[in-house]
Amino acid sequence: MRSWTNLRRLLSYAGDARGQYISGIVGIGLVNLGVNALFAEALALFTKGLMQEDSHGLLLSVVLFVGIGLFATVAILLVGRALVSGASRTERHLRSAFFTVVSRIPLATLERYDPGDIQSRLGNDVAAIGQFYAQTMQLLSNLMIGGLGSIALALIIDWRSGLLITSAASVLFLITVPLLGPLKRHAKAAQSKKAEVLGQTGQMTRGSFIVRSFNLQDWVLQRFAGSSLAQRHEGLLLGWYDALRSFTDNMGNVVSLVLIAYGARRVAIEPAFLPRLAALIQLVDEVTMFFSQLSSLLTDLQVKLASAVRVLELLDEPPEPVRLPRPPLVGESRAGPGLSVNDLSFAYRTQEDAALQSISFSVAAGHRAAFVGPSGGGKSTLFKLILGLYRPRRGTITVDGHSIYDHELSVWRSQFAYVPQNAFVFSDTVYANIVGGMPDPGAEKVERAAHAANAHDFIMQLPNGYQTVLQELGQNLSGGQKQRIAIARALLQDAPVLLLDEATASLDAESEHEVQEALQNLMQGRTTLVIAHRLSTIQDADTIYYLEGGQLVEQGTHRDLMAHTDGPYRRLVETGLKATSPPPAS
Ligand code: ADP
Repeated sequence: MRSWTNLRRLLSYAGDARGQYISGIVGIGLVNLGVNALFAEALALFTKGLMQEDSHGLLLSVVLFVGIGLFATVAILLVGRALVSGASRTERHLRSAFFTVVSRIPLATLERYDPGDIQSRLGNDVAAIGQFYAQTMQLLSNLMIGGLGSIALALIIDWRSGLLITSAASVLFLITVPLLGPLKRHAKAAQSKKAEVLGQTGQMTRGSFIVRSFNLQDWVLQRFAGSSLAQRHEGLLLGWYDALRSFTDNMGNVVSLVLIAYGARRVAIEPAFLPRLAALIQLVDEVTMFFSQLSSLLTDLQVKLASAVRVLELLDEPPEPVRLPRPPLVGESRAGPGLSVNDLSFAYRTQEDAALQSISFSVAAGHRAAFVGPSGGGKSTLFKLILGLYRPRRGTITVDGHSIYDHELSVWRSQFAYVPQNAFVFSDTVYANIVGGMPDPGAEKVERAAHAANAHDFIMQLPNGYQTVLQELGQNLSGGQKQRIAIARALLQDAPVLLLDEATASLDAESEHEVQEALQNLMQGRTTLVIAHRLSTIQDADTIYYLEGGQLVEQGTHRDLMAHTDGPYRRLVETGLKATSPPPAS
């Protein structure tokens, strides 16, 4: 029942290609059946003409043969085109729907899946469904219309012969029944091993830096070889079982033989049966094909349905809400200009391991707040909550007095410019990366932003300047250059609140200077929250917040906090930060 629903859902993606696709599918079966029926009729006429030495009848049947041949060529071309085009349009609709859903599901849902797994669903599984749309549906139509229609015709022409060939051919199907289970199992296993190999290729490229720096080549190669071998093994087993199954394809002639043996005896008693026998001989192949291919169709359907389940599972994930629902017990906030966080709590899984616990603070408009503390303290989680990427369990966030729950998320997020630690670049031009989906503000503004981000000079040195195409992993840019592109993007966005995740990795001295200067330009006049690792950034902050175990442990200016002789901030400065930055002058 669920399979049936899934099948219907897959087909519903035809959308505006529905008419074309259905006419292609039904057409291909009907043309098949029609051509076969007409050939059977022509063959009967021809045989009758021969028996009665009727030259007129003979001529008519020859004309009919040629006519049917021509008709078949044109008709198959037309319905084939409708089927292929309808199927590829349907596949495109499904692919777009999948891409759209993945781009809209909440981050918390997305994190439940492995990125390689999502890639494999979009690549392997959607491609398998593409084959379902084109090939499986064609086979289904050929069998259900062409095959079953031919059985019906054979029974109409002569019920005894019809019954004989139908029962003889059904044996072919019964022989394949024991193969159905292993075929399905190995086809599914082969598909999942294929996904594994694809996933490892992705990890190898995404993690290329780590692979090289830790000399992991042998290890990744070993893992890959293992999966690749398993894929080959499953592929081989599948091929074996399929070869066994296809044995029945070649046994079709036995059914013809049975018909001819029976027909010959019958013609000996009843010569007038000969034309009908000729027609039945024309139909017997289709009848045989119905039974011999039925197992193929059933296995194929099951395998494609397994892909469908994996794709539909993601398609069923609810999208991010337009607005975040207000958690219970959130009072009205009377915060003023700037950013305020009030009693914010959040847990990734259970309340016991809460990542943030009752956090409250305010950053006045134009002020700078630095967040410090040990790794795992909750700094990144706080930023993600501010950006509305997760639903708080409790508490509220406001910008200029307006709560996150009162805005559509897209509007809320447009108030922030986020500069991550490791800037991400899309495989597109430098220009497109800076503009980043905003309406094109024109080259002048883009260059001005790039100048302020200290990026213009190095961009001009790239082979095609602003039109140079970057690579997703940014191998053609240094870390500092990628960051300056991200800063230029943030400058162009001109959002009032800046969320900055300072890079922990040290850049070379020149890059560091350029990036710092660009960041100063960016912070100018903006309310800034920075996850800080450099002492100079921290010292410049109006307030420093020390986060540990999801709680705000200390807050104040550098001077205040350094005055706490045994305070965690002071310990951090004296142990953690000293190593990377010069000690404070005061
Ligand atoms: P910080 O940025 O201060 O290093 P995080 O905000 O990244 O800290 O992490 C806070 C806590 O939340 C840690 O215990 C971390 O393991 C956990 N955490 C972070 N991200 C996730 C996630 N996507 N899923 C589950 N737990 C997470």
